[in-house]
Amino acid sequence: MTGTELAPDTVVVPDARLYIDGRWSSPSDRELVPVHNPATEQVIGSVIECTRADIDAAFAAARQALGPWAATTVEHRAELLDALADALHDRGEELAVLASMEIGMPLTESRAVQAAFPESVLRSIVDVARTTRWEYDDESGTTIVREPVGVVLAITPWNFPVHQIIAKLAPALATGCTVVLKPAELTPLNALFLAELCDAAGIPAGVVNVVTGRGSTTGEMLVQSEGYDLVSFTGSLTVGKHIGQVAGGRVIRATLELGGKSPAVVLDDADLEIAVRTTVRNCFTNAGQKCNAPTRLIVPDGELARAREIAVAAAASYVLGDPIDPSTTMGPLASAAQRDKVLGYLDAARARGATVAGGVRADGFDAGYYVTPAIVTDVGENDPVVTDEIFGPVLVLLGHQGFDDAVRIANDTPYGLSAEVWSADPALAEALARHIAAGQVRINGVRSPQPPVAPFGGYKASGIGRELGRFGLDEYLETKAVLGLHHKS
Ligand code: NAP
Ligand code: MG
Repeated sequence: MTGTELAPDTVVVPDARLYIDGRWSSPSDRELVPVHNPATEQVIGSVIECTRADIDAAFAAARQALGPWAATTVEHRAELLDALADALHDRGEELAVLASMEIGMPLTESRAVQAAFPESVLRSIVDVARTTRWEYDDESGTTIVREPVGVVLAITPWNFPVHQIIAKLAPALATGCTVVLKPAELTPLNALFLAELCDAAGIPAGVVNVVTGRGSTTGEMLVQSEGYDLVSFTGSLTVGKHIGQVAGGRVIRATLELGGKSPAVVLDDADLEIAVRTTVRNCFTNAGQKCNAPTRLIVPDGELARAREIAVAAAASYVLGDPIDPSTTMGPLASAAQRDKVLGYLDAARARGATVAGGVRADGFDAGYYVTPAIVTDVGENDPVVTDEIFGPVLVLLGHQGFDDAVRIANDTPYGLSAEVWSADPALAEALARHIAAGQVRINGVRSPQPPVAPFGGYKASGIGRELGRFGLDEYLETKAVLGLHHKS
């Protein structure tokens, strides 16, 4: 997997700097935004709150770099991305530790999703780029030319920060686009670390620029700027709608990866024990702060009590603790605000008569935003814990009365990011997969390893566009039809 194991105190936390036009700067008059470790509540670093001048400089650098970068060969860009993938491999352990310190994710998970997976995503995009038909004559004699869209504004969230950055950076760079990246305020340090790797890999000045600061200030200034040709956003539905409106007003492309309230549907012929235990595990990855977490477990009415028993036992087996400790299976939530939001949803549900096992502040911690995993039953289908994305370790159980009812409940959500289906009958499982409106459907727990090329993105309010693989690359490409230019082939 990644390089040598490291103690957290040996990880060098990046300084508060901006990376613009291939240069590092730390203007002394800028406000600093502290970055906390959610397990200790201690400040581990800080980043610069950008001014408009910084943002203008970043877009100007990306614009200036665009022509020369877009004119390089695909093979040249692929070689630079190979070098970046090698650097991710060699420095993956540092990155995983740093990301765990920023987000509170157990290091065992971080190694897989913040280091190994981003590396394989990067390598897979390089493969896709190398096999893409960049220019060809179609059957009508028209020459089809694929060109980079231009300057990309990439705005990423905190929950799988390294993965979410690489999922945008890799296709943008492979196609010849240049990038201005703003990482989430809670987890900006890994982005600065990645910028160091881009620099060391020889990616030319201005091709990747990293600016930092708060979403409401730096983020908003970036979005309102006219410096970009495409915005790729991952985050909440609220901010995504706003960015989509701005992009729509300018008729530029917005790729939006938004939230989810994904169902796991279990039919009566499925192995309930395996289905429930797997759903609990998939729901509680990263303490449930996962956009595609299966947060609604939909089981046959007659099996609700047994499903609850299995789920409660599985939830109780989690070991909460220091994310760096190898025995930890669940870390803290990413921030005090996230913890309070989760507890607020659960308290309100209890007040409406829901049964909640767990879902309280964890005992025995002097610091850290720890919440015990929660299994919720006895709620109506329109209860906010059933309809809203909570983004915490909360699994809601609902009963269904057979296939059609299960499909109805599964699709009764504004979202459509992913789904899981369980049946012993392959034909039924397939039928379920085809009936659910979601961008990804997993049959009977098929999950790992997640293929890095499987397209990822949402139906309905879960977003617009796809990331990863060939579909992800396409988002960064324009298509030109040239008539009258015939290749000799
Ligand atoms: P968020 O508040 O929407 O933030 C996402 C990013 O947007 C952050 O970098 C944020 O900066 C920035 N931002 C906030 N307000 C902005 C504005 N007015 N203009 C420009 N940028 C702005 O979401 P979050 O709370 O970080 O992340 C959790 C949400 O993301 C959940 O709803 C989750 O489902 C969704 N998500 C979706 C996917 C997916 O692939 N579909 C993946 C992960 C997460 P700050 O951090 O500095 O506020
Ligand atoms: Mg936010």
